[in-house]
Amino acid sequence: MSMRNENAEQVLQANHDVVIVGAGFAGMYMLHRLRSLGLKVRVFERGTDVGGTWYWNRYPGARCDVESMQYSYSFSEELQQEWKWTERYAAQPEILAYARHVADRFNLRPDIQFETSVVSMSFDEECNRWTVTLDSGQDITAGFVVMATGSLSNARTPDLIGLSSFEGKTYHTGQWPHDGVDFSGLRVGVIGTGSSAIQAIPIIAGEARHLTVFQRTPNFSIPAHNHSLSDEKAKDWKVNYSELRRRAREESRNGLVFDFPTKSALEDTEADRSKHYEARWAIGGTIFTASYNDLAINKASNDTAAEFVRSKIREIVKDPDVAKLLQPTTYPIGTKRICVDTNYYETFNRDNVTLVDIRNAPIERITPRGLITGGKEYEFDAIVFATGFDAMTGSFAKVDIRGREGMTLKQKWAEGPKTYLGLMVAGFPNLFFVTGPGSPSVLSNMVVSIEQHVDWIADCLVQLSQRGVESIEATERSESDWVAHVNEVASKTLYPEANSWYMGANVPGKPRVFMPYIGGVNMYRLKCREVANRGYEGFELRTIAGTSQSRRAVKKG
Ligand code: FAD
Ligand code: NAP
Repeated sequence: MSMRNENAEQVLQANHDVVIVGAGFAGMYMLHRLRSLGLKVRVFERGTDVGGTWYWNRYPGARCDVESMQYSYSFSEELQQEWKWTERYAAQPEILAYARHVADRFNLRPDIQFETSVVSMSFDEECNRWTVTLDSGQDITAGFVVMATGSLSNARTPDLIGLSSFEGKTYHTGQWPHDGVDFSGLRVGVIGTGSSAIQAIPIIAGEARHLTVFQRTPNFSIPAHNHSLSDEKAKDWKVNYSELRRRAREESRNGLVFDFPTKSALEDTEADRSKHYEARWAIGGTIFTASYNDLAINKASNDTAAEFVRSKIREIVKDPDVAKLLQPTTYPIGTKRICVDTNYYETFNRDNVTLVDIRNAPIERITPRGLITGGKEYEFDAIVFATGFDAMTGSFAKVDIRGREGMTLKQKWAEGPKTYLGLMVAGFPNLFFVTGPGSPSVLSNMVVSIEQHVDWIADCLVQLSQRGVESIEATERSESDWVAHVNEVASKTLYPEANSWYMGANVPGKPRVFMPYIGGVNMYRLKCREVANRGYEGFELRTIAGTSQSRRAVKKG
């Protein structure tokens, strides 16, 4: 019996306190929290199992780039003590096994309906409930909906002419076949050089007869120096978990435990700086971009780090022309998501790997045999699209969400996402977003941000219930103030200088707005706590006594 059939029997009643969309790390923890409050909750998940990102992204080399001891839930002391990570950066199968373990350990599956997409939802102002429509056509109603649909879950294949004419196989890293792909003896083309491509390319190159990489924009990548995790190291973490998790949550800007530097890059001499960058390069990982305290805000400082990485590329890659193509020069380091790799640059020294620059000669079209760029046809047995996601808003846009007076979220966000705290949207009462645009989200260790949002939402629902409140909605004023604040903070950094997916620049026609909140998870957490402590300042809370006419605002922001 498939999971869908097992679960279908349990959807006998179509009215729930809360519907959660998505069963990745966010949806799973949200379900656990709300169920422990005694609420009637139903989760709908498009995939056949839990895990979200780690269910879909099964491409070769996929692994986290936040260290495993930190890229994990902290909500259960027993869970964090009993789970054993085997590597500094766990690979996708291990992270998926962890998600499955969590689902089993907390008995989550009976309340998750798999192979089910939410396609639309609308808010009924008369009864303050959402009607959620599934791809089966079934309607479910719920007092509240939590979108735990993921920031990087809407894989994007570019709209290339002739795509369907290709006679070989095509793959997207974000929708990888569950049985894996054997590239042995094949001619493979990879389109894209972001984090996914950078992880996959060295492994595909080791299998394929020939690999051609099509690069539009080179990325900065830092070595992972991945290794197995010793028992001692894991024990160190586990013994000190409560303090270390607290530091990640409350003291860090990005949800990671490390000592944030206090010095500007420009305060060191060139020789000292170089020594410092060498030491950071030897440690590896994303925190290279926090080698000094001003790399994200000071172009002159940033240039020193960028130049160091370029010098490493020149050192590693033997062919000077290829090395030149691989060196990013058009944006500051860290303003496109920093990549973390194992042997990425080294892979371009292999005889069976070719790099093709498509910056000035975009792919003209896909042909039955391959693709054409710069007037030349490249022939392949397989093409891998490592072309990323319609990030942060893509999975919301796919659902037809209608709030007050039938307004759609698409209309509301036509010029870019507008939220209050990344958690709620004016005009869309009782609808929560986990790690939504306007929250630290993708700029942080996502598990830290997910847990914070889930806890805030769960606490909020408890408060609403205790006060007899049936509807909560961000006010227009608080929303526009928050959007202005998010923009203002971003404008003080170098981030808007890059054509990144943070800015929506990878999707033709998407508004160019810096979507995540860059103020830091520590400051953001304080702000969310303060808002709640002040009786949900900036939200309008309404009680209901029978009819919509008798709504009474008990708190105005
Ligand atoms: P997701 O894991 O994306 O889960 C959302 C789920 O919602 C999906 O399963 C999807 O199928 C489902 N869904 C969406 N829309 C619908 C719908 N309409 N109906 C039904 N179901 C729906 N972050 C880090 O902090 N560190 C890392 O090292 C890291 N590595 C990453 C590596 C890759 C390859 C990618 C793509 C992302 C990575 N991230 C990383 C970000 C990662 O997405 C988050 O860390 C985290 O897994 C997100 O969890 P989530 O539950 O919010 O969303
Ligand atoms: P991405 O960073 O958006 O990279 C997509 C790549 O495809 C870019 O090189 C992009 O070029 C290229 N591309 C897109 N459309 C194209 C087109 N029409 N023609 C040619 N090239 C095109 O996507 P991703 O690599 O999947 O990563 C997305 C995010 O997921 C990461 O930034 C990270 O947050 C997360 N992730 C993390 C890890 C990890 O190490 N833990 C691994 C994978 C993903 P341009 O740059 O020119 O747009």
